[in-house]
Amino acid sequence: MTDDVVLEGVFAQGGLLKGNVKPSYDVKLNEREIRLTREGDFIIGFGRDAAPEHKLTFSAPNGERHSLIIDVKQRTYPTQSIKGVPQKTVTPSKDKLARIKRETALVKNARKTDSSLLYFLDDFTAPMRAPITGVYGSQRIYNGTPKRPHYGVDYAGPVGAPVYAPASGKVTLVHEDMFYSGGTLIVDHGYGLSSTFIHLSEVVVKEGEDIVAGQEIAKVGAGGRSTGPHLDWRVNWYGTRIDPQLVLLIAGDK
Ligand SMILES: [Zn+2]
Repeated sequence: MTDDVVLEGVFAQGGLLKGNVKPSYDVKLNEREIRLTREGDFIIGFGRDAAPEHKLTFSAPNGERHSLIIDVKQRTYPTQSIKGVPQKTVTPSKDKLARIKRETALVKNARKTDSSLLYFLDDFTAPMRAPITGVYGSQRIYNGTPKRPHYGVDYAGPVGAPVYAPASGKVTLVHEDMFYSGGTLIVDHGYGLSSTFIHLSEVVVKEGEDIVAGQEIAKVGAGGRSTGPHLDWRVNWYGTRIDPQLVLLIAGDK
């Protein structure tokens, strides 16, 4: 029965796998139900600190069941010390906490989007061609204070440089100025896969708008917790943070 299963991608923490099975199967990752397209396509993703082994279970309509163990390569992440970000973004004052909480909820909610768009199956391309100055998973120390890891890939670029859609999708969130992330844009690619773009100076698309791969969607900025102008691009599978560079790797684009 597992002969019918195709699974490809990067089998590592931060990796995204694309799979295909008979559409009549029921698929579970550990205990989690995985949604299939009508063609039997699906994706699953692994977070920065995902365990080394995960169980993928396939059940046929006749009750026949089979499991695969997926080995997820454990990575080590660099530490990056960043000095010169606005100190108010490292130790926010109490009166900012309500705002931060509100904004976090907006982002979380957008990433929960569970649409039937099929663009998650497309090959992604980098949102801009520029030197990479920050990577997924790195432990960040801001102005000497250890903070949460970095989950995006950073591209250096001048304020106003165009940002292009890495794949087609629908805009689920536009925010002019979030406390940590400045100008923020989230695009849904379907089946839980989303792209988030932060520190933007301008977003040139609207919430609810359908966008196509390669279209200009925003401009680079330096808002939020940032030392200078750059694009920070993040990829999520629902709440799970994926390494954008691994998504490009399976598409053959680096
Ligand atoms: Zn960043």
